[in-house]
Amino acid sequence: MPQTGFRSSGPEQEVELDIFDGVRQSDGNPVEPVRLQSTDSFCFSCHPTVTCWNRCCHNADVTLTPADILMLTRKLAIEPAEFLAQYTVPDNWEKSDLPVAKLRTDGQAAEGACVFLAGDEGCGVYDARPATCRYYPLGLASIKMMGAQKKEDFYFLVRESHCRGHKEDRQQTVAEFRTEQDLETLDEINRAWIDIMMKMTSWRSVGGPNAKKVSKQTKQMFFMVSTDVTTFRRFVFESRFLETYAIDEETIEDLRTDDISLLQLGFDWLKNVLFNEQTINMKEDVLKAAIARGRSDMGAT
Ligand code: SF4
Ligand code: SF4
Repeated sequence: MPQTGFRSSGPEQEVELDIFDGVRQSDGNPVEPVRLQSTDSFCFSCHPTVTCWNRCCHNADVTLTPADILMLTRKLAIEPAEFLAQYTVPDNWEKSDLPVAKLRTDGQAAEGACVFLAGDEGCGVYDARPATCRYYPLGLASIKMMGAQKKEDFYFLVRESHCRGHKEDRQQTVAEFRTEQDLETLDEINRAWIDIMMKMTSWRSVGGPNAKKVSKQTKQMFFMVSTDVTTFRRFVFESRFLETYAIDEETIEDLRTDDISLLQLGFDWLKNVLFNEQTINMKEDVLKAAIARGRSDMGAT
């Protein structure tokens, strides 16, 4: 895959991370090194009569976000475990060293075809297609400046030689394109997940959060929350999770049926486990018992 020129570095420095780089095939260096903001314009259109129709759905490197998996499992009316087994391959997101699911590229349509490509018809799951596919030919990147509380998003253009959409005469702003692709909803659901990816990327240079390697078990928890709401819901309701964490009754009721609330709880929990952030609180008695245990382990009275 071509280099984008964006960098990531240690936790005390600026961190810059491309999240959806959209690059499908390596043909030189197709990322334009220009930062686009929402109000900036670019020229592009994709429709079934372009000569390159479906080219970008071959050998596509599509990492699935939590929102993508929610939308796709609803569309296909299957459980996440079945979806993962049938349509994805596990992989490691190298920038953050966290496990992710990627779309399979051994579909029926042709060699290297995305598993959802339905021949000349195009994408077989179009209204539930992943964020990476919606963003193309834009990429999304985030930057967190040293000392800043919040990260900022910006966009960049991917100009691959096979994509004729850039020759089409349709001018639009990034904001118009994002609205047309219905990206705001997906980005909102994925926001905290992207935060985790960014933080893990920034900590990589010192070996992990607070210079500690992330355990295999924590990576498995990350994968469960990110890819399988059914298993995570079972974990919340059938383990000691609700005895451990202080969660109000109304939220608990929501978590039984609301997948998006459940995902947000999962991200809060992961931020607490990975970075020790106070995104979720232990119950008072559990916390006191944990402190007493810690003191006793250290031989303190
Ligand atoms: S999900 Fe759809 S748009 Fe995305 S690569 Fe597959 S066929 Fe193409
Ligand atoms: S114009 Fe670009 S995005 Fe559209 S089908 Fe062709 S390669 Fe894919």
